Amino acid sequence: MKALKFGGTSMANANSISQVRDIILADEEAKYVVVSAPGKRESSDIKVTDLLIKLYNEPKEGKAAVMDAIRSRFDEITKNLDLDLDLTKDFEEILYKASNGATYDYVVSRGEYLSAKVLAKLINYEFIDADEIIRFSDGTLDAEETQKIASERLLSSKCAVIPGFYGATATGEIKAFSRGGSDISGAIVARAIGASVYENWTDVNGFMVCDPRIVKNPEIIEMVTYRELRELSYMGASVLHAEAVFPVNAAGIPINIRNTFSPKSKGTMIVKYEDLASGKFTRRKKVITGIAGKKNFVGIFIEKQMMNNELGFCKSLLEILCDYNISLEHMPTGIDTVTLIVSDTEDSVLEKAVADIKKKCNPNTVEIVRGLALIAIVGHGMISTKGTASHVFKSLSDADINIKMIDQGSSELNIIVAVDNADYEKAITALYNGLNR
Ligand code: ASP
Repeated sequence: MKALKFGGTSMANANSISQVRDIILADEEAKYVVVSAPGKRESSDIKVTDLLIKLYNEPKEGKAAVMDAIRSRFDEITKNLDLDLDLTKDFEEILYKASNGATYDYVVSRGEYLSAKVLAKLINYEFIDADEIIRFSDGTLDAEETQKIASERLLSSKCAVIPGFYGATATGEIKAFSRGGSDISGAIVARAIGASVYENWTDVNGFMVCDPRIVKNPEIIEMVTYRELRELSYMGASVLHAEAVFPVNAAGIPINIRNTFSPKSKGTMIVKYEDLASGKFTRRKKVITGIAGKKNFVGIFIEKQMMNNELGFCKSLLEILCDYNISLEHMPTGIDTVTLIVSDTEDSVLEKAVADIKKKCNPNTVEIVRGLALIAIVGHGMISTKGTASHVFKSLSDADINIKMIDQGSSELNIIVAVDNADYEKAITALYNGLNR
């Protein structure tokens, strides 16, 4: 049994929704479906969720016009799908509530509510409202209670469509996740029904080996482990909402990223490392799974003679960073040197922190280098393969790129290099070409 989630572009218009229907009806296992609100039909379009945010913010007298725009999106969909579904009462209720003090979360989540009603009618599945199965307490998801009520309710139905993006408190107050949160709803549903796989249908063929804005048409990653994904996502690669991974990862359910507009492509499978190691899943042997990075880090290069003999030197450094709320990303050390790679920090804060380092730690030199880009080269294959590092460094030196810092995680899951911001795109291209040769 599968859980499927369709994103905003898949639900954007009657055409794409017909493709969604075909995908579901062609798969006997496709029993539980979570949907986003209609997204953009073309790049200049406005997502229904953004229209709903406008509806919430608009003064009372302007709300009816915004509601009309939302209504016409759905009317166009139901008309072109030839669907016998009258949503008039829902539109009236949303406008009424939005004009009479409804919460932000209630208003912005109505796109998913309506979208799920449309799809449920189209494919003749039961509509199960997310406020029945996803429980929030103290402002956050109550994962265990949700698991309990969601399994019971969902499994009482043979097949259902559920709106993404929201749930409710025990007293019925609607609570929404952060933007893109339907991915989390899909993961919750997958866990609740004990799905064999969580298919996340979007508008790309899967995770790419590197950023397609830098390298044209990079390869799709056929299979990635949750740990690799975490490294790649942290460094900027994104297809899924970060929190969507936890419910399914904990339950050992793989995620399959698929493309509604190219349903034959297999997409990317996200699996547990243990399942890859045990042979439950196999992938083509590749040392490097993906390359991702981010610009604008700051390096604080510190030197102090006999640093290696001084107990507590690093502890003091880290305390100072903590005092100034500066987040540490990496900390490669030499014998008498240590480099703190920190996220972009205002000059005034950095100056004060450096003054403290000078006062409390008494270093010989402290040098600040701004404008560093970090690039992570990620893959479990590195653990057992010789020569990956030399390959990385050769690709960069052949492209005439100076490496400012090197850090290999102790898990040997990644190698991280820092280069100048200006070399970032060139470095990603060189690494991609070098490693895939
Ligand atoms: N519709 C919401 C958004 O635009 C949630 C989602 O699509 O996942 O962020």
